[in-house]
Amino acid sequence: MLVIYSEKHKEHNPKFYFALGRMENFPEMPSRAESVINAVRKREVGKVLQPNDYGLDPIKRIHSEQYVEYLQHAYENWIKIGGNPEACIPDTFAINLDPQVKQLVTESKNKYAQAGSFAFDTAAVITKGTFSAAYEAVQIALTAAENVFGGMNAAFALCRPPGHHSETSLAGGFCYFNSAAVAAQYLIDKTGEKVTILDVDYHHGNGTQSIFYEKRNPLFVSLHGKGDYPYFWGSEQEEGKGEGLGFNVNVPLPVGTNNEDYLDNLKKVIDSKIVPYQSRYLVVSLGLDTFGGDPVGGFSLTSDAFYEIGRLIATVKVPTVFVMEGGYAVSELGDNGR
Ligand SMILES: [Zn+2]
Repeated sequence: MLVIYSEKHKEHNPKFYFALGRMENFPEMPSRAESVINAVRKREVGKVLQPNDYGLDPIKRIHSEQYVEYLQHAYENWIKIGGNPEACIPDTFAINLDPQVKQLVTESKNKYAQAGSFAFDTAAVITKGTFSAAYEAVQIALTAAENVFGGMNAAFALCRPPGHHSETSLAGGFCYFNSAAVAAQYLIDKTGEKVTILDVDYHHGNGTQSIFYEKRNPLFVSLHGKGDYPYFWGSEQEEGKGEGLGFNVNVPLPVGTNNEDYLDNLKKVIDSKIVPYQSRYLVVSLGLDTFGGDPVGGFSLTSDAFYEIGRLIATVKVPTVFVMEGGYAVSELGDNGR
């Protein structure tokens, strides 16, 4: 297993966000990635490499030009309009979307409207180092993808911030750039082959679903807490659209789901959907917030389950890129990830 990591994530360190109307500590903190990299190094999981730089082009295959430009300058523009230097958080959201093209019906050029034009919630807090950390996270995922393309059987992209809630032009849920989506598209563009994205984070990967909803490549499969955040997406009825119909597979599982039921459902969806799709590559959105002790997630998996999840994923027998997503039980995160 090759591991790709960079210290740059530490530049993204929001201090707070709002949950249930309260100002709470931001759970997506630098110590998460440090816990995992420490476990990786201690247990000698594999060689740890720095990412290469692939520039903005692969990001723009997934995210809109306007959104990339917004994120690049979001913090400095926020400071210019007198925003709190500790956190760029929108106060007004652009909800008037055209359902056909999922774009704004009316756009506001007002400088105060920018943050709310490019986010679907208040949890993707932007600070001074957010863009460079999110950019680096994508480069980490791309480097992992490049190595798997080059013949490695598996590579682990230790990305932070996570990405799977982020849509084409929207941040949300601690996510800015969708690193797993960029890595999958990179492999598709490079090889013309089929790719599967398997999302095992506790939360539904609404961003990834939205990006590929009308495509048949990649296949998108998500197992997640039923009805939990991001609340409005993740039902079994969301099966894709147009030529993508049937290539979006949601497996919502009840809050409290244990090892046995989780592994049983994972095995079923691997056998019934992922293996028959016969993709050349697999990209795993690796959330570890399915762990019972996770302060954000709602399943009751024990640490033993993560070994079994890895074993089941290995039964697909295709080269695999693991992209780190959520997981907030910092002290167990390293061992669960390893
Ligand atoms: Zn999550």
